[in-house]
Amino acid sequence: MAVQAAHAAAGTTAAPGDGTGRAAPSGSGSVALGPAAALSCRECGERIPLGPVFACEACFGPLEIAYEFPGGGPTALRERIEAGPDNIWRYAPLLPVPADVATKPNINPGFTKLVRADRLAHELGVTGSLHIKDDSGNPTHSFKDRVVAIAVEAARAFGFTTLSCSSTGNLAGAVGAAAARAGLRSCVFIPHDLEQGKVVMAAVYGGELVGIEGNYDDVNRFCSELIGDPAGEGWGFVNVNLRPYYAEGSKTLAYEICEQLGWRLPDQLVVPIASGSQLTKIDKGLKELISLGLVEDRPYKIFGAQAEGCSPVSRAFKDGHDVVRPVRPETIAKSLAIGNPADGPYVLDIARRTGGAVEDVDDPRIVEAIKLLARTEGIFAETAGGVTVGVTKKLIEEGRLDPSLTTVVLNTGDGLKTLDAVAPTTGPTAVIRPTLDSFREAGLAS
Ligand SMILES: *Cc1c(COP(=O)(O)O)cnc(C)c1O
Ligand SMILES: [Zn+2]
Repeated sequence: MAVQAAHAAAGTTAAPGDGTGRAAPSGSGSVALGPAAALSCRECGERIPLGPVFACEACFGPLEIAYEFPGGGPTALRERIEAGPDNIWRYAPLLPVPADVATKPNINPGFTKLVRADRLAHELGVTGSLHIKDDSGNPTHSFKDRVVAIAVEAARAFGFTTLSCSSTGNLAGAVGAAAARAGLRSCVFIPHDLEQGKVVMAAVYGGELVGIEGNYDDVNRFCSELIGDPAGEGWGFVNVNLRPYYAEGSKTLAYEICEQLGWRLPDQLVVPIASGSQLTKIDKGLKELISLGLVEDRPYKIFGAQAEGCSPVSRAFKDGHDVVRPVRPETIAKSLAIGNPADGPYVLDIARRTGGAVEDVDDPRIVEAIKLLARTEGIFAETAGGVTVGVTKKLIEEGRLDPSLTTVVLNTGDGLKTLDAVAPTTGPTAVIRPTLDSFREAGLAS
């Protein structure tokens, strides 16, 4: 079911060179979110006016943004983007944000480094070009700043004054920071047992932080209840009632990667999966660039990466299923520990349609991959980056990822937030007295 609908809905999202302004579907005229024209159901295609809703009234399918993109052709659009700021707002003409978004108080994420990883390529036997898209360089050190920045604009447009979320850790910090900067109240919810780095980052920006006795899926269920209750009235939950807007932020990863490759599509991408939203929107972003004529239309493959201890999508991919059976997560990759991923079926569809795959790695290999990336490229990834690098290594070893092509691997977070993962097996080479004799005794002299 998801397969058919995803294809049908994709056709409604991009309309190159078609129209000069945004369409005005009945009733949506009051919300100015740039090229965003309406919400459209990914399952049945039903269109409704822009608003803080996330599920289709007709079929309960997820809603996503339908656009009327600017006309004028690819050259004008490319020049406009290249003249924009060095953050995600350079892509404002393709996002559900007001035209003057760059002038508002926002933490301005994006345009993170695309690192050519030759030393890692050599270790992995890659003969083509290997790149790390390093999103640890965002303001709160994870990719979540991208999605939150878009949600903040939607929250402002809909008049919300409290920003909230259910989080596996990184989102809570991103919401706290963005709310502080925008002058909004924030109250965020996390599983009570997260890494210290994530708890501290979620709290330091001064908003309210609530630890829930349960896992992420429990937190998420609680937030859905809160939305339906007067206790949560007027709250913008970035990844629930603002989810259609939030999700679009991940498209900027696709835009940046292509622009940084010289307006070219990579042949292969390796993307982590928590709810699967990021992966599906990277695919959406790539398709938009093709339909707008900003990149040449050629095939690309998207590979999804999970931790073995929370691998419901990988399991379904291997079993040939269209539906994802929920699991109880048990892994050090806590930012990816969603046992019941909302976008799982769409991820399966994309991996299969593009000729990619979904694969998983166990916790020891995640730690090994974090260290491999650090030792070869000087990039310290959080556990989610260990998952993508570990899965890349596995796919190459099994001959499922072509080492002669252009491959982009995502690192979505900073290793300083998940020190516990590597601390037990990382530390000083030696502890010595401050004398040359002691140094020589330790066997470190050249
Ligand atoms: C949230 C998150 C992801 C991906 O999340 P999706 O729910 O799949 O969009 C990836 N990496 C990190 C570090 C994250 O925090
Ligand atoms: Zn529907």
